[in-house]
Amino acid sequence: LLSLSGVRKAYGDKVVLDDVSLTIDHHDVVCLIGSSGSGKSTLLRCIDLLEDIDDGVISFEGEEISDPRVDARRVRSRIGMVFQAYNLFPHLTVLENCTLAPRKVHGVSRAEAAERAMSLLSRFGLADQAAKHPDRLSGGQQQRAALVRALCNEPTLLLLDEITAALDPELVGEVLEIVRAEAAAGTTMILATHEMDFARDVATHVCFLDQGRILEQGPPSEIFTSPREERTRQFLRRVL
Ligand code: ATP
Ligand code: MG
Repeated sequence: LLSLSGVRKAYGDKVVLDDVSLTIDHHDVVCLIGSSGSGKSTLLRCIDLLEDIDDGVISFEGEEISDPRVDARRVRSRIGMVFQAYNLFPHLTVLENCTLAPRKVHGVSRAEAAERAMSLLSRFGLADQAAKHPDRLSGGQQQRAALVRALCNEPTLLLLDEITAALDPELVGEVLEIVRAEAAAGTTMILATHEMDFARDVATHVCFLDQGRILEQGPPSEIFTSPREERTRQFLRRVL
């Protein structure tokens, strides 16, 4: 579904992604772990074409999307991305947030978009919040709504960048439950996360980033229990 080969990204002379190669199949749940500044967000932003890369190739559904001639908006319409915070449009209701892109980008009718959005909002316990504006919701409800909004576009790939990092601890669980449900339903996703227990549970594949390189990758059973690299062991000792 997605492959990165030799991806390099620098800001000025600071190399932030260095020779990153990664292959992701349908239904994979890939967790990016690593210290702050290791390049997790940058990697997700490059995949979503929010950043240009300096070298290497990114292919998505067989198309070389890192080619500068590619229409980034068209690619992004098949990729859902949710960030740490400030995801929803504050001037729109939750339902309007969820139906905007399906209607404007995907040409879905208003009625059909609303029906699909309401069904997802109900599934995730948000039906009674649909008519409210985001500032009337708790942080956890807002992030759940942001996830629903991303899912309303039926993305082929979902990118989640530390979506629970800004939440109070008691709200983290309800957001992770949605991610877990989506993973179980077979949605392909890449998440940057500091939630190690979650990564161990849900990931099919874990990548440990260190100074812009994927130092080690493999199934969670391997990375968390018998990491090969000393730096991975050091990181895990600090966070587990
Ligand atoms: P965190 O866990 O704190 O979110 P991260 O792994 O997501 O960290 P990135 O945000 O990808 O790390 O940042 C990687 C490096 O790139 C950092 O050193 C950061 O300072 C640098 N960086 C990120 N964005 C920019 C930018 N727009 N201009 C210059 N440097 C940047
Ligand atoms: Mg980050």
